[in-house]
Amino acid sequence: MKPESIRSLEDVSKIPFTVKTDLRDYYPLGLLAVPQHRLYCLHASSGTTGKPIVVAYTRGDLDRWTRLMGRTFDVAGVRKGDIVQNMYGYGLFTGGLGFHYGARAVGATVVPTSVGNTKRQLMLLKDLQSTVAACTPSYMVYLCEASRVEGYNPKRDFALRIGLFGAEPWSEEARKRMEDTFGLRAHDCYGLSELYGPGVGIECDQRNGLHVWGDEFLVETIDPDSGEVLEPGTEGELVFTMLSREAMPLLRYRTRDLSRVFEQECACGRCHGRIQRIKGRSDDMLIVGGVNVFPSQIEHVLMNVPDLGDQYQIIVSREQLDRLSVKVETPKNKVNDPGLLKKAQDEILAVLGINADVELVEEGTLPRSEGKARRVIDLRPKE
Ligand SMILES: [Zn+2]
Repeated sequence: MKPESIRSLEDVSKIPFTVKTDLRDYYPLGLLAVPQHRLYCLHASSGTTGKPIVVAYTRGDLDRWTRLMGRTFDVAGVRKGDIVQNMYGYGLFTGGLGFHYGARAVGATVVPTSVGNTKRQLMLLKDLQSTVAACTPSYMVYLCEASRVEGYNPKRDFALRIGLFGAEPWSEEARKRMEDTFGLRAHDCYGLSELYGPGVGIECDQRNGLHVWGDEFLVETIDPDSGEVLEPGTEGELVFTMLSREAMPLLRYRTRDLSRVFEQECACGRCHGRIQRIKGRSDDMLIVGGVNVFPSQIEHVLMNVPDLGDQYQIIVSREQLDRLSVKVETPKNKVNDPGLLKKAQDEILAVLGINADVELVEEGTLPRSEGKARRVIDLRPKE
C-alpha cells in the first residue's frame, strides 16, 4: 500500500486490518507514528491475560479526545451546573480520565470518586446531590439494589437526572431498572481504549442507536469470518479507521464488536452516522451446543421475569454435551418456588432455544462487580 493507492473511500477496503494481537505484538510502543518525546500521556487496557495494550496520545490527541467527550456529554444533555459523579476507574483504564475530561469540556463539576466503596458513593450521591452518574452499567444495576439495602429512597434522596453507561454491553431491561429506580435517563456510551477510550459513540435523546463522530471515525462493518465488507444495515463486526489521531492512528481496526450501521438520518437532526447498540463482543459470544448466545440475551430474559434479581451468573460446562447453567438471585421467600424456576427455564428455552439449568439463589449470594461484570464462567476445556 502507498498513499497514492487511496483515491476514494472505497479504496480504504484495500488496507489490511489491524487487530488486537498487532498491538500486543508491538508492545509497548512499537506502533508509534510520532517520536516518543511528542507523547503527552499513555494509557493501557486491562489485559486479562499477559501484557496489556498500551495506547499513546499526543497533546493534539488529548485535546481531540476531550472535544469528543465534551460532545458526548453535550448530546446526553450534561450542562454547566451539573455535578458529575464519575465512578469509572481512574488510572491506566481510559474510562476514568475520559469521562473526567468530558465533564470539564462542558463546564460541569466533576467528582472523581472512581470505582468501588459503594457506601461512600451512595453517601456522596446524596450529600452532593450529584445530577449525573457515570459508571459501568453493571455497577449502576448493583447500586439500584445497594441503595435500598443501605436504607435510601433513591428517587427522593438522590438528584440523578442523567446516566452515562458504557464499557460493556447492557440490555434494555437493565436500562428500565436503572431509570425506574433513580428516575434518571440512561444513555449508552461506546468506546474502546484503542480508539482514544470512551467517546466514540453516544445515544442521543431519540435513543435509536448511537451517534459515532464521523469527523474522527470511519466506520465499516465486515463479515467476522471472511473479512468481507458488508452493506450498511447488515449486522457484522465494527471496523474503525481513525482520521486525525497522531500518536497511534489505527487503520481498519477490528473491534470484535457486533453491530450494524444505520443509513437513515436521525430525528434529532445530527448528521453523524449511527450504529446499533452493541449486542455483544464476538469474543464474548458463547457457543453452547451449536447455539450462539450472548450474555446480554440471558440478562434480557431474566430481567423480564418478575421476582428474579439483577444479579446472575452464567456457567458453561461440558460433560458429553455442553451445559448452560444460570444462577440468578431472588428474594429469600422465592428461592424454593418451583413455578418461578420453571418460568425462568421456559423463558430461556423460548428466547434462546436452549435448555438451561436454572438455580435460584438468595439475594446477596453472588459476587458484586465494581467495574465490568464477570458474568460468565466457562469451564469447558480450551480447544
Ligand atoms: Zn440522534
